[in-house]
Amino acid sequence: MKIALIAHDRMKEEIVQLAVAYKPILAEHELFATGTTGQRIIEATSLPITRFLSGPLGGDQQIGAMVARNEMDMIIFLRDPLTSQPHEPDIQALVRLCDVHKIPFATNLGTAEILLRSLEHGELEWRNIVRGER
Ligand code: PGA
Repeated sequence: MKIALIAHDRMKEEIVQLAVAYKPILAEHELFATGTTGQRIIEATSLPITRFLSGPLGGDQQIGAMVARNEMDMIIFLRDPLTSQPHEPDIQALVRLCDVHKIPFATNLGTAEILLRSLEHGELEWRNIVRGER
């Protein structure tokens, strides 16, 4: 599965801890991330990650382009609920595209863990079928 990892600045430590804890599962999949988030996770885990631009510079939109092409299977986006972001329109666009294409999208640690564990049980296999149909 292709998985994108994104975290706003105040959530970066949380996503790094998540990646460390779930490294064995994440290592089985193809990983993508926005610039700084990807850098932090690579430093902590050495997992191979394709890094896009930083979120405020267009990284969310680059991930959105993959969603639009039905090439992304899961997104974990730990958003900072207490700080306004200059690229809020890009974030909303990504959420919307994920809803359009029914892409599993976690915005907090609780849901992120459930999604990652679902990978172990093959519960996202339907994505292989949906991807093949497009
Ligand atoms: P970053 O971008 O990983 O480059 O910090 C994330 C974001 O703010 O959307």
